[in-house]
Amino acid sequence: MKNLQQTDSAIYDIIQKETERQEYGIELIASENYTSKAVMEAMGSVLTNKYSEGYVGKRYYGGNEVIDEMEQLAIDRCKELFGCEHVNVQPLSGSPANAAVYLAVLKPGDKVLGLKLDHGGHLSHGHPVNFSGMLYNFVQYEVEKETGRIDMDKVREIALREKPKMILAGFSAYSRNLDWKRFKEIADEVGAITMADISHIAGLIAGKALESPVPYFDIVTTTTHKTLRGPRAAIIMCKEQYAKAIDKGLFPGMQGGPHDHINAGKAVAFYEALQPEFQEYAKNVIKNAQAMANELMKRGYKIISDGTDNHLMVVDMTSKGVSGKESEVALEKVGISTSRSTIPFDTRKPFDPSGLRIGTAAITTRGFTEEDSVKVADIIDRTIQARDDEEALKKIREEIIALCKEHPLYQ
Ligand SMILES: *Cc1c(COP(=O)(O)O)cnc(C)c1O
Repeated sequence: MKNLQQTDSAIYDIIQKETERQEYGIELIASENYTSKAVMEAMGSVLTNKYSEGYVGKRYYGGNEVIDEMEQLAIDRCKELFGCEHVNVQPLSGSPANAAVYLAVLKPGDKVLGLKLDHGGHLSHGHPVNFSGMLYNFVQYEVEKETGRIDMDKVREIALREKPKMILAGFSAYSRNLDWKRFKEIADEVGAITMADISHIAGLIAGKALESPVPYFDIVTTTTHKTLRGPRAAIIMCKEQYAKAIDKGLFPGMQGGPHDHINAGKAVAFYEALQPEFQEYAKNVIKNAQAMANELMKRGYKIISDGTDNHLMVVDMTSKGVSGKESEVALEKVGISTSRSTIPFDTRKPFDPSGLRIGTAAITTRGFTEEDSVKVADIIDRTIQARDDEEALKKIREEIIALCKEHPLYQ
C-alpha cells in the first residue's frame, strides 16, 4: 500500500492499526470472517471505476464487455457452488438483497411469516424499526422456551391461521439446523412463497457441512461475507420462475449500478469455496463451535438450546451473574471480540441484554483447532471471572497474543 501511505498517511496508519488489531485479537463475532488477500486484491482493483447498470449483455452503459465476462463467471461459479437455477450477484449487502426480494414478490402490506428478532431473526425479517416491518405485515414465529428450538408444528399452526403470502426461514442467532423440507411442505399447504435467508450459514452449506434449502425453496438470499468468506455484499438465488421478477426488483427496483470490483471479489470467493479445502474448513468451523460450546457448558454456562449444529451459539451470561454487555466489555479488554445479544424471552433491555453471541468462522479461517477452541473457552471463562481484576486481565491479554502468534493471519 505504498501509494496510500504517500497520499494519505492518516488513513494508511488507521488501516495499519486495524490490521494489528485483527492480527492479535480473537475474533468471535459470528457474522465476521477474514477474506483472502486474493479477494481483497479483486476488490481493490480498477473494476471500481466502471458503471454497468443492467445485466450481462444488457447494460445501460458502453464499455462493459470485460465486466460482462466477470459477472458471467461469478454467476457460473455461484450456480456450480449452490446448484441454483438462477442467481443475481449484484446485491450490495444482505438487507438490500432482502428488500429487493420483498419488492419483487410482495406488495406493501402483504403478510410474511418470519422468525422474531430476539429469538434469533434479523432486523430485515420484519422488525418494527426496519423498513421490512414498516412496509410489510410480518407475523413472527418464535423458539420454544424449554428447548430454545423452533417447533415446526407451531410454525404450521401459525401459517394455517395467518395464511401468509411468503414464509421466511433464516436467522442471525440460532444454533440449530432448520428443517427446510418441512418449511416447504407448510408453505405448499397454504400456498406461500418460500424464502430462505442463509446469510450466516452460506459457507457451511457451500462446504457441504449443512443441508441446503436451494433445492426446495423458491428464493434464497445470503450475504457473502460471513461464513462464505467473501466480500461484504450479498446474492439472491431463485428458481427460474422468479428470475425476471428478482432481477427487476434489484435493478432498477432497489439499486443503481452494481459494484463490479466487489462482484469480482465474490467470483474469487466462489472459486475458493469450490476447492476441496473449503469443505474441510466448513467441517472444522462446526467442530470448533461444538468444542467451545461443550467446554463452556461444562463450566456452567447456559447455552440456548444446549449446544450448536453450526458455527454459532448464544450464551446466556446471566447464568454466570453477568450481563451480555458487561461480558462484551470484559472480553474486549483482553482482545476478544464478541457481540452481546438478546436471548429468547429476555427480561433485560436490548442495549444490555442477557446473551452473548459467539461464532467460530473467523478463528477457524486462521487455523484454530478444536484444542484451541477449548483454550478459548477457558480464556473466556477466566476473563469473565477476573473482569474487575486489571492485573489478571493484562496477563490474559498476553496469553491471547501468544495464541494469535501461533496462527498468523495476514502477516
Ligand atoms: C447479516 C444478515 C443480514 C444483513 O446483512 P447486511 O449485509 O449487514 O445488510 C441479513 N439477514 C441475515 C439473516 C443476516 O444474518
